[in-house]
Amino acid sequence: MTAEAHQGARLTRMSLYQKVLVAVDSSEEAIQVLQAARDVPGIENANVEVIHIADRPQAAYGQWIVYLPISESDLQQKLLERLQQRVEASGLNADSVRVEFGRSSDRILEEAGNQHTDLIVVGSHGRHGIKLVLGSTANAILHRAKCDVLAVRIAE
Ligand code: AMP
Repeated sequence: MTAEAHQGARLTRMSLYQKVLVAVDSSEEAIQVLQAARDVPGIENANVEVIHIADRPQAAYGQWIVYLPISESDLQQKLLERLQQRVEASGLNADSVRVEFGRSSDRILEEAGNQHTDLIVVGSHGRHGIKLVLGSTANAILHRAKCDVLAVRIAE
């Protein structure tokens, strides 16, 4: 093989993206987002992080905040186990799978900034419904991200 051909082969195997952040909610449709990430060309050469942002174990009823009988760490652990199962089922090879607490779009963008992410993968909509063309989280990320965003069309 000539040096040029070798260089070409190396280039075609290279990923366009080095750091990929896949953000999934807790809906069944999350698997579609994970599978789309799995199919991004060259993803096998990128560093892939899967993240889910959870609500803290509390609920607001009007002006009242009620704390639910589960600790943050127990909730985080349970959600992480389910997320890891989903990632495994999707066939996506992830370097890290994490559950964090906070406001989803803010935390996803913060994580992308901290990790120097060059591609964020989200679903076109999630548990907030399909009335909007883009869900509120996907919309916020598309408008505010400093990197490329893949908005995966969720099949109805
Ligand atoms: P939504 O804006 O809720 O319709 O969700 C659109 C997409 O944003 C979802 O398919 C996920 O990819 C992502 N997303 C929404 N909520 C979360 C969350 N809590 N944690 C991580 N990603 C999320």
